[in-house]
Amino acid sequence: MPNLDEFLNKPKPEPVYNAELVRLGGIRGCMKCEEDVVGGFWNPIERLMTWTCSKGHENSFQVD
Ligand SMILES: [Zn+2]
Repeated sequence: MPNLDEFLNKPKPEPVYNAELVRLGGIRGCMKCEEDVVGGFWNPIERLMTWTCSKGHENSFQVD
């Protein structure tokens, strides 16, 4: 019998998002693979759009 308590009580790592980030809808292609990524984040301070595909590729686009 595996020790379920140990598994269930394990703290889940919560993704930490900067409070300044705005969630975006829509679909953007990953620049490092062919994947279509749903959603993303917009940083209005840096004017930077970021989105991460399921393989962990981080994409960003600076808007002038
Ligand atoms: Zn990718």
